[in-house]
Amino acid sequence: MRMMDDLFTEAQRQLNICNSCRYCEGYCAVFPALERRTVLEAGDITQLANLCHDCRACFHACMYAPPHEFAVDPPEILSRVRLASYREYAHPPHLPAWLRGPTWLRGRGALATAATGVAAALVVVIGCTDLTTLTQSNPGALSSATVYTPLNAPLIVNGAISDFECAFSRYVVGSGVFTDELADAISNAANFDYDRRTLTTGASASPTSAAVSNSAKPQLSADRFDMNGYVINAKYTLGRNTGNTFQQTYTQSTVQGVPIEGPFVGVTFPPANYIALPIGPHQLYIVWQDPTNAIIDVFVMNFVKHTVYDYAPGSTTPESAGTITVVKTGPNRIP
Ligand code: SF4
Ligand code: SF4
Repeated sequence: MRMMDDLFTEAQRQLNICNSCRYCEGYCAVFPALERRTVLEAGDITQLANLCHDCRACFHACMYAPPHEFAVDPPEILSRVRLASYREYAHPPHLPAWLRGPTWLRGRGALATAATGVAAALVVVIGCTDLTTLTQSNPGALSSATVYTPLNAPLIVNGAISDFECAFSRYVVGSGVFTDELADAISNAANFDYDRRTLTTGASASPTSAAVSNSAKPQLSADRFDMNGYVINAKYTLGRNTGNTFQQTYTQSTVQGVPIEGPFVGVTFPPANYIALPIGPHQLYIVWQDPTNAIIDVFVMNFVKHTVYDYAPGSTTPESAGTITVVKTGPNRIP
């Protein structure tokens, strides 16, 4: 009993780490079921162990697998729980000890060893015959002669529904990742090209090629971008401007910065001229100038990641960084 307690305690420890991490939640039924529990009882752990089919995908994906000190190995611990639960509930209680498991491993039960050997030989003989004939058939295949029988109608309908659902989910996930509406938290080969925008025209729904299309590369241009109508809040969390939020209101050629949060609130800054240049997909390089065209402030804004880097010359620590919020957009879309 003590051994079972130790086993469940260890399973509980590992699964609690999984429940916090959730990286593997799309891999199998274990993780969605695990997420429905905040406290794991022995019965929950046994249920989870029996949902695991030992594919080991989570183990290979896990950043906390040994030799990490967390030592997370769900397939290993769940298979031990399964074995214990079979011993507890599936084996007849009065079965002789030598029939309760692979006793030959423990050096006991010559009869069991012999029986296991005969069974293994039979499996090898039958299995090899099957393999060497190379006459395997797909038990799920539908022949053209039987495809239109009424009995098969649900199968065909369900197949069409599944195809649609598969395509639709690829469309939703793909377009979400591509447009950064969806964080690619469990990145896999099917999503890489969406995330790094290296999809080529006519690429399949699950692109794996790393080929970079020329049209997907940022096109270099020195054309100015007209930010007329844009209102952007820049909130600084690093560097010289830490703690300040400035609201920047742009016209066709000027910008007005107003402190709306932090120590500078109440300070009035003169309007500045500006030049904005697109330097990548949804990224602008913006220079503020005084009336003599001297540079007052330089910003690099990323409108996908919503970050801002700010360099204001004239001080010993001119750098600041933070996040931006687009309060109002103008008629021009940021390229
Ligand atoms: S197996 Fe590892 S990566 Fe997967 S959910 Fe558990 S802790 Fe996270
Ligand atoms: S080894 Fe088990 S828990 Fe891990 S992904 Fe496969 S089925 Fe799920």
